[in-house]
Amino acid sequence: MTKVQLTFVSRRGKEFSEDQKEYFTKLTTMLEQIINTDRFKNDIRYFKHKIGRRWHDGFKLNKGFSPSEILNILLSGKDLYSDKDQIIDIHLNPYRKRKLKYHARTFKGRRSIGVNTTYLAYCMRKEKKGEALMAGTMIHEYMHIAGFVHYTNSGTEEDKGTVPWGIGDTVKKILKE
Ligand SMILES: [Zn+2]
Repeated sequence: MTKVQLTFVSRRGKEFSEDQKEYFTKLTTMLEQIINTDRFKNDIRYFKHKIGRRWHDGFKLNKGFSPSEILNILLSGKDLYSDKDQIIDIHLNPYRKRKLKYHARTFKGRRSIGVNTTYLAYCMRKEKKGEALMAGTMIHEYMHIAGFVHYTNSGTEEDKGTVPWGIGDTVKKILKE
């Protein structure tokens, strides 16, 4: 079984509130449960994405890895900063943009994922839907920490076929059910 481990990081003196930390902790438990289910694993192994009217098998920008290999990378906990230890290490720090369209961000050479506190507040108000959105965002961003990218920052159809979007959207879909 793969574990998901959360670390809160403060940046520029900013820290998450206790409520926000509690929320992320709850989502981390949900995320850990989901990624260990056969349902999730099969959705990734047989991942398909749609461009226009056509369905395509597998992920875009997959670095030569098959969907099963990508699943194994995720479950192994191997990322740019950590070896295969069966622990997915998610480091989070707050930042603030007023617009909701900014969800989270990662930077080259930085392990911690910035979460826009405006988007976080929105998710926290939206109950089940919000949980799905934020858990999906967390694993999307983690796939960047694991070294996968997408084409643009606007979430085009082609972007949706990439590893961060594909895995993030799979988690969202399962949690919305
Ligand atoms: Zn992304």
